[in-house]
Order: sequence, then C-alpha cells, then structure tokens
Amino acid sequence: HSPEPWRDMDRSRVYTADLESALHYVLRVELATHDALEGEELKIFKDFVTLVAKLYPGRASVVKLMETLSDWLLSLPLQRIPYQAVLDLVDNKMRIAGVFLGAELRWVGCQGSKPGLRGYPCALWTLFHVLTVQHEATPTALDNTGLEGAAPVLQVMRRYIRTFFGCEECGRHFDQAAAGHLEQVKSNEEQILWLWNQHNQVNYRLAGSLSDDPLFPKASWPSPSLCASCHEEKNGIHVWNQDQVLSFLRRHYGASNLSPQYAL
Ligand code: FAD
Repeated sequence: HSPEPWRDMDRSRVYTADLESALHYVLRVELATHDALEGEELKIFKDFVTLVAKLYPGRASVVKLMETLSDWLLSLPLQRIPYQAVLDLVDNKMRIAGVFLGAELRWVGCQGSKPGLRGYPCALWTLFHVLTVQHEATPTALDNTGLEGAAPVLQVMRRYIRTFFGCEECGRHFDQAAAGHLEQVKSNEEQILWLWNQHNQVNYRLAGSLSDDPLFPKASWPSPSLCASCHEEKNGIHVWNQDQVLSFLRRHYGASNLSPQYAL
C-alpha cells in the first residue's frame, strides 16, 4: 500500500473533505465496532445525527443523508437497531436516492506526515468547532429537536466522545473537563470559546507526545500568523484577546471558509 500523495493545503481554510471523511468514519468505522445500538447508546447516536442534520453547513447531499438517517432513527419503534440496518440505509437506500457519503477517507487539512498521525481525531475536533459556530449563526436550528438546552453542541459532543470515540482515555479526559463546567456555558458565544479553550488545554497536555505530528506540532492556537490580534501582552505576560479570538473562530469555522477542494 503506497503512501498517498501529499495534498497541498492552506492552514487558514477548513476542508469539507475532512468533515465528510469524519462522518464517513463515524458511520462506517466507529459504529461498526458495535453490533447493535440500544438504550443510552442509541439515544446518543440519534442526538449526534440530529445535531449534524440540523447544523452541518456543507454539501446539501450530506445534509440530506443525515436528515434521512435522523428521521428514520426517530420513526423506528425498535428499542434495538442492528448496526447492519444503519449501514444498509447509508450504503444502499441512500445510493438509490443519489445521496451518499463518499466511500473513502480523504484527509486534507487533517492529513498527517506519517500514517497513524492526525486524520479522524483532527477532523472530529474540526467538525465540532464548525458546529459550535454554526449554532451561533442559526440559533433556532435546534428548536423542537429535544436539543434546546444550554450548550447543546458540547452536551452531544461530550456524550458522543465518551460512548463512541475509539480513544477511551480521550473520552475520560473530555468528560472530566466538561463535568461541572458545562453548566457555566450560558450563551452560544461561550460555547464556541469553551471548546476552543478546552482544545488548547489538550494541545498543551499533548505537546511533544507520540501523537504529535512534527509538521503540525501541538501548540496554542491560533498562532500569531493566523491571528495576530488574538495575541496580546500584559506586563510581559501573554494574554488572549477573547473578542478577537471569537471573531477569528467565527470566520475560520464559518460556512464561508469551507473549501470544497479535494472533496470526495
Ligand atoms: P488536533 O488537535 O486534532 O487539531 C485539529 C485542528 O484544529 C488543528 O490542525 C488546528 O487547525 C485546529 N485547532 C487546534 N487547536 C485548536 C483550538 N484550540 N481551537 C480550535 N481549533 C484548533 N489524544 C490524546 O493522546 N489524549 C487525549 O486525552 C485526547 N483527547 C481528545 C479529546 C477529543 C475530544 C478529541 C476529538 C481528540 C482527543 N485526542 C487526544 C486527540 C488529539 O487531541 C488530536 O486530535 C490528535 O493528536 C491529532 O492532532 P492534530 O495535530 O491533528 O491536531
């Protein structure tokens, strides 16, 4: 298996290829480790699909796929859904309607300099950042979905990561970070900033570890080259200008910064 050719990419863009590859990975790889979904797991999966169906700002065909999946999950009277039935829907029934998610993984902004680095975890972070920004841009999108409370994107993310994310240690860490703190997130802006700050805490913890790609070393983000005005100095100490960070995140993870280049 020869390595894939490097795809030129721009660190100031967000690539739909990464977001769609993450959804592909969720539906065809991560879920495949479960024979069936029932109880709490089924509820968490349904909420994740509904969240994406309502807030995903990418291709209309992908939104349609997630909407169809969400409607189907909500309409089924079953307590237990075999994974194979989810896969059939995603693979076959959708193909007939001309709606499907590309059948391969193609990382662009999330490609690693070596196999095993970056990819899915990077794209999952990216997806949730995009969803926090989209939720602020379309605050009524989650009305009547059962996901109306404060910080809905973070609540779904927390439960999804804890239940389905292959890295259990990550799930535990994220859960601890969220415990007792998500209640303090009162607005859609705070939701965006909470996830940004939490992601930086993870970056600090992992800097220099084995999962660090030398081409993409973990550090506080955004760097001064991405956002100079986000950085300030007070009495010789680095501080973030949170208003500038918020504006930057809205722009960076907003729908108009999505690049379709290399899309599946
Ligand atoms: P990532 O950290 O995945 O970041 C992806 C992209 O997001 C970056 O390239 C950058 O463009 C952007 N970005 C970076 N920082 C921020 C920020 N603060 N705000 C907004 N955007 C940003 N691995 C572990 O080993 N231990 C853990 O406990 C752990 N916990 C995790 C928890 C979660 C919820 C997730 C999704 C992943 C976790 N991981 C953990 C994986 C790890 O965080 C990285 O995703 C992985 O190592 C790949 O790193 P990366 O270099 O691609 O950058």
